[in-house]
Amino acid sequence: MSDTGAGEHPTMGVTLARAWVTAIAEGIDASADELTRLDTAIGDGDHGVNMARGFSAVLAALDGWSAESVGEVFVRTGSTLVSRVGGASGPLFGSAFRAIGRALPGPTATPAEVAAALAAGLDALRKLGGAAPGDKTIVDAYDPAVTAFSTVVRDDDADLAAAAGAASAAAESGAQATVDMRARKGRASYLGPRSVGHQDPGATSASLMFHALATVTTARSG
Ligand code: ADP
Ligand code: MG
Repeated sequence: MSDTGAGEHPTMGVTLARAWVTAIAEGIDASADELTRLDTAIGDGDHGVNMARGFSAVLAALDGWSAESVGEVFVRTGSTLVSRVGGASGPLFGSAFRAIGRALPGPTATPAEVAAALAAGLDALRKLGGAAPGDKTIVDAYDPAVTAFSTVVRDDDADLAAAAGAASAAAESGAQATVDMRARKGRASYLGPRSVGHQDPGATSASLMFHALATVTTARSG
């Protein structure tokens, strides 16, 4: 992997890592009402508030704090989400970010290292929540995003922006596909067949997470 290749993002550094987390916080904030509306349909209506409160605590935790490695940014993000978000989504997203962080110990990370870290995050989330693809959860957006990201990196040796763009598109389709699914995990599963016909809030947040990655990696190019 060249440090001076055509891609403007040959690697992810601490600054880009922070920019990603900040962009997620902004995206969640802008979509909090929509996330709450989705959770009102098939849950208890707190997802937008949970996520917005969690990411606002994350921004406060990162403010005035300096990281030596890319991973530290994500470990701190994850730990804050675990401790500050009341709903199921806090420990799930929090564990994912902690695992992403633990996989990135260096001051920079190559696209292949980011791909492996995102996959480690998915593993942690699945281990904690026990959800498989098709269960109408965070996994349904996160899993296709990891596959898309890794495929672009492996097949095209692409930069972060290209991989993140593919991941974002895959996550969005994955979140939309949850509309037709019946929930088998979490609160929405109590509704049984009545959970069909609504997009899953957690999958929607995961889609925002990858959309934010695409936004920051693209914005810093050129
Ligand atoms: P709660 O359900 O405790 O109110 P939230 O409303 O914040 O928590 O989050 C709900 C979202 O959490 C769901 O839309 C779903 O995507 C996700 N979720 C719930 N349980 C699981 C699980 N076991 N694995 C993965 N995601 C899950
Ligand atoms: Mg809820």
